[in-house]
Amino acid sequence: MKGLSDTFNRPINYLRISITDRCNLRCIYCMPAQGIELLSHHDILTYEEIATVARAAAEMGITKVRLTGGEPLVRARLTDLVSIIATIKTIDDISMTTNGVLLKNYACDLKKAGLKRVNVSLDTLNPNKFQRITRYRKLDDVLQGIETAKECGLEPVKINMVVMRGINDDEILDFARLTITDGWHVRFIELMPFTTENPHELHAARSKADLHPHYIPAGEIMKQLNTLGKLEPSDTIKGNGPARYYFFPGASGTVGFITPVSDHFCVQCNRLRLTAEGKLRPCLLSDEEIDLRPTLRQGASPEQLQRLIMKAIQTKPRHHQLAGEPLVIKRRMSQVGG
Ligand code: SAM
Repeated sequence: MKGLSDTFNRPINYLRISITDRCNLRCIYCMPAQGIELLSHHDILTYEEIATVARAAAEMGITKVRLTGGEPLVRARLTDLVSIIATIKTIDDISMTTNGVLLKNYACDLKKAGLKRVNVSLDTLNPNKFQRITRYRKLDDVLQGIETAKECGLEPVKINMVVMRGINDDEILDFARLTITDGWHVRFIELMPFTTENPHELHAARSKADLHPHYIPAGEIMKQLNTLGKLEPSDTIKGNGPARYYFFPGASGTVGFITPVSDHFCVQCNRLRLTAEGKLRPCLLSDEEIDLRPTLRQGASPEQLQRLIMKAIQTKPRHHQLAGEPLVIKRRMSQVGG
């Protein structure tokens, strides 16, 4: 199989597939409380269409697939999709990013179908704060989901915490302690400056002078963590992404940092994103997209699809603009796949 690389010689081997724009939570940094226009059933790719894209991409050199959304677990019969993707021999890693609310119902079946591991988004361990952040009282469901995922062997389960000043930064050490006491793998994510209102307007607009009021740079989180012990770099944890991992002495879990704002990781970007309605997005933070759906629905050959996939790869920018000029993008994270 050929290896794939973009015009900046970055190897491209990872496809993130958003399977729905719907979500059963409304996190304050991601979606507005109401008034969201959702894609219709006809708009979103069928599982067979998604699998057709995955097969074409796999023939080109994509070896890793992540399912995301919206919330992937709200789409019916997700295990069917995982089973189909698992039959693609050259794809050696199928993972999922989920809010965990429904995970306890599906974790074991997904594992049997071929899912390898999950990332669960969890920003707080406090039920009231969970409601403030997600607008739902579902913390217990998420915690049960995490446990069930571990029991079913979806390892490693990584916990993604978006850190927000004045909202959940008082829990940084609580999450970090869980890497020591319970072997959790916790990743601290810098808050990206999207707005969640005005669905037809801009979803991010920022200059250096216009940081999100709740944004905390990873360097500051790291300083807090140093009060718990000396962090050592870790290279044992499996992942396809940009996180940098560390561990505390004696801990079986790890802490990771994802720093899209303070230190972009575009130089290692190995990914393409497929939106639920079939647009290939070369960069999370750019509105450049290549629409695969018309070609797919006209019964495209793998070669035709591969030409479009190659075009998307060649369109990948050297880096995103989040840490530079003001940035404007039209989609919110729930529509891109995070
Ligand atoms: N529903 C799934 C979930 O909650 O994990 C998958 C989709 S969600 C859009 C994917 C990830 O994007 C989550 O970890 C979420 O916390 C993160 N995210 C969304 N908006 C963000 C923002 N403004 N800044 C940083 N991370 C964000």
